[in-house]
Amino acid sequence: MTMGVLGSDLAGDRWIAADRRAMWDQARVAEVERGASGTLLRLRLVVVPDVLPGQYYLVRLAVDVPPGVVEQAYSLCSSPYPPSGEVEITVREVPRGRASSILAHQVEVGDFLQVRGPFGFLTWTEHDGGPIGLIGAGSGVAPLTAIVRYAAARELTVPMTLLASSRDRLSGILREPLEALARDRAWFTLTSTVTRSPSDLLSAYRRRIDADMLAEVFTAAPRERRPHIYYVAGPSDMVIAVRALLGSLGVADSAIYSEDHA
Ligand SMILES: Cc1cc2nc3c(=O)[nH]c(=O)nc-3n(C[C@H](O)[C@H](O)[C@H](O)COP(=O)(O)OP(=O)(O)OC[C@H]3O[C@@H](n4cnc5c(N)ncnc54)[C@H](O)[C@@H]3O)c2cc1C
Repeated sequence: MTMGVLGSDLAGDRWIAADRRAMWDQARVAEVERGASGTLLRLRLVVVPDVLPGQYYLVRLAVDVPPGVVEQAYSLCSSPYPPSGEVEITVREVPRGRASSILAHQVEVGDFLQVRGPFGFLTWTEHDGGPIGLIGAGSGVAPLTAIVRYAAARELTVPMTLLASSRDRLSGILREPLEALARDRAWFTLTSTVTRSPSDLLSAYRRRIDADMLAEVFTAAPRERRPHIYYVAGPSDMVIAVRALLGSLGVADSAIYSEDHA
């Protein structure tokens, strides 16, 4: 595992940065919440960013292996409405991963990070219409959560159905806030599948996403909930497979937006 290069400046602020003169924005870590499914970081930016729900930021960290720096993408899982200088990311630790290990174990409240953004085209606002189908695996659930939180914050009622896949219930990121949203908002339906927990009776499905599952959750849903557009995010193989499965169910490729979290 690589370790972050920690340094302090004259003001005593702790930086986890390779080159503070580089053209990156700064973010102060305002909150760190470490949980079984990931680490939630609330970042305070210098200016209020113009973010669309579903976009991501790049985080640039110093590491002590060549080339001395790593830049990785992290989706904002917070709602960009109302506009705020504070944004949230959720980091799943990847075994022996350079950035995720630092963010999961070393970063503390008060630290400064180098960030740049927002980026990304997996975005939705009320102008894109609905109903919408959201299909996420692993960290792919994060940008989809931002979309649902945005709709809730704006008090929209566009029907949204999220199919969230994880190894088991505990590793499902943002599970608790999503379950709370599903309880409180009639327009939002949450369905989960677990791929490595065959005895988990709390999840609707206990297998990888397949055509039957997609048909039950989305294409055979009552007309008023049946999606017009789909948002798919997760590991590359999952995104490729889900696009093909939706195609086999008659969903037009142009109605599927996707983002690889390789
Ligand atoms: C648009 C987008 C949004 C994303 N959003 C999120 C998010 O919200 N939350 C989240 O947790 N992640 C997200 N990701 C994934 C994230 O960007 C990182 O890819 C992830 O955190 C792993 O980064 P890392 O530096 O820890 O891993 P890396 O250091 O890149 O390592 C990844 C894997 O490769 C292996 N590896 C690394 N170097 C070598 C080598 N030299 N030889 C062999 N194997 C090696 C490691 O062992 C590890 O298993 C997103 C990705 C994208 C593209």
